[in-house]
Amino acid sequence: MEKIVILTGAGISAESGLGTFRDKDGLWAKYAIDDVATPEGFARNPVLVHEFYNARRVKAAAARPNAAHQVLARLQRDWPGEVVIVTQNVDRLHEAGGAQDVIHMHGTLAGALCAACGHRWTAPEEMDTATPCPACTRPTARPDVVWFGEMAYFMDAIYDHLAGCSVFAAIGTSGQVYPAAAFVNEATAAGARTVELNLEPSAVVSSFDETRFGPASQIVPDWVADLLEGPR
Ligand SMILES: [Zn+2]
Repeated sequence: MEKIVILTGAGISAESGLGTFRDKDGLWAKYAIDDVATPEGFARNPVLVHEFYNARRVKAAAARPNAAHQVLARLQRDWPGEVVIVTQNVDRLHEAGGAQDVIHMHGTLAGALCAACGHRWTAPEEMDTATPCPACTRPTARPDVVWFGEMAYFMDAIYDHLAGCSVFAAIGTSGQVYPAAAFVNEATAAGARTVELNLEPSAVVSSFDETRFGPASQIVPDWVADLLEGPR
């Protein structure tokens, strides 16, 4: 049974209307990465950070999965081996599209984390600097997302999956954020066939055996069809 490991990034959610820091419009134009996506930024101005993630949480809750999310759920159902989805995205569009056991290496907007005691719970729609931790009661709630300078989640499990996979695909990732950008090297070392599916070549495109470029909602269904039915 061949195991497939799929890494997804912002590019798979872009067609569902969720932007990134690289899109200089809308929500994203108003904020700097250093201010809202680092522990230092949160320490400096937690009000601003909560405001930013509250707005993102609302946007993410209203977003719908697109054809790329849905077809990966179909691959999980129809592939005879295991299909592991690892995502850098903090939305839950893979789950909304029907995927199972998605590994959120950068956390999710749906989660809250106590900066004081480490307790995790389901985030309220709006968090602020008075939101109490249900465990220790201190007003130290923060989004349960991994900021720059913090350790990504579930790395031991992810490396185990990469060491045992036959196919590794990176979908909609920039190849600029580590450790995810190095997963292709782990997979290659494990003897896997590697494929990049992206709108444009990523920073690590030369590390892949195969590349496919275009909108995720088109190229991901084509790739899944090739896997399940053989190349046409
Ligand atoms: Zn606490």
